[in-house]
Amino acid sequence: MLLIMKKHIEEDHIQDLLQTLKTKGLQLHRCRRNGQLAYGLFGDKTKIDVQELQNHSSIEDIISIKEPYKLASRTFHPEDTIISIKNISIGQNQDIVIIAGPCSIENQEQIETIAKGIHHAGAKLLRGGAYKPRTSPYTYQGLGEMGVQFLKKAGDTHAMPIVSELMSEDQLQDFIDHVDIIQVGARNMQNFSLLKALGKIRKPILLKRGFSNTIEEWLMAAEYILAGGNSQVILCERGIRTFETATRNTLDLSVIPIIKEKTHLPIIIDPSHATGDWKRVEAMSLAAIAAGADGLMIEVHHQPSCAWSDGFQCLTIENFEKLMEKGRKVAHAIGRTL
Ligand code: PEP
Ligand code: MN
Repeated sequence: MLLIMKKHIEEDHIQDLLQTLKTKGLQLHRCRRNGQLAYGLFGDKTKIDVQELQNHSSIEDIISIKEPYKLASRTFHPEDTIISIKNISIGQNQDIVIIAGPCSIENQEQIETIAKGIHHAGAKLLRGGAYKPRTSPYTYQGLGEMGVQFLKKAGDTHAMPIVSELMSEDQLQDFIDHVDIIQVGARNMQNFSLLKALGKIRKPILLKRGFSNTIEEWLMAAEYILAGGNSQVILCERGIRTFETATRNTLDLSVIPIIKEKTHLPIIIDPSHATGDWKRVEAMSLAAIAAGADGLMIEVHHQPSCAWSDGFQCLTIENFEKLMEKGRKVAHAIGRTL
């Protein structure tokens, strides 16, 4: 529930109340709502007398949050969350932000060539995996720390912030130092100890939806990060498992309006992992823009047939340029820019 405090109330005046609630094991999250001081009160509500709280001299109103996720809910935070990375904003309902790059970083030259191409085409952020969650332990696992360095150098050269996937807490310090948006992959969406660690830092997190997870489970995973104190979460839909085999996954575009309704967090779409086939990426990207996504994350490689991972779903730089041109038209048609 959300406790809306009376206007002009002195902090000291409410300390006793806050202390009492804390000793009952409840968690309090201080925030502002329409300019007024408010506290999100979470935990076991059977420990409190709501009527007594309602009558407390410093409380103006109590709003109940019905969803199991609290900080992530629109009830708690009605305004859209906007995530700023350098001069880029994600979630501000105007610019659609494009993140592009290879599935995995292979060497400096490869990431540099791709960075140059996507930057020229209008991408705002550069992605690339240095730690790869591969289904088989015998396939390419990524360059690790060296990969992060290559990615950073290419990003710096073209003034593009970088996005990369963190697989374990051991890599966290390196990512805090060098990566602008830390990606949590579909396979780690419910790695709760990783999510808790990411709650303690102050960097944007791109949280992919697990391929077998419901929207509610996804938002509960976001809640772990928010509950730790990190308010910068970007959601990323990347397709879910269904009975269909014609695509690698089934892209659930209906999440866009649902996410917009239920949460204030930005939502971006990854059509590459969703379809698993570069020929489907353009259509799904345009559909995602039309449906109101705040951004796209697209795999691009200068020579997809030689890519060390996910080459089949990578766009060439030329096809990425074509997609950007069409994307601009769709964005324009809905009053947005790309
Ligand atoms: C990726 O973005 O490279 C990746 C592995 O994605 P996902 O976690 O969605 O499979
Ligand atoms: Mn990939």
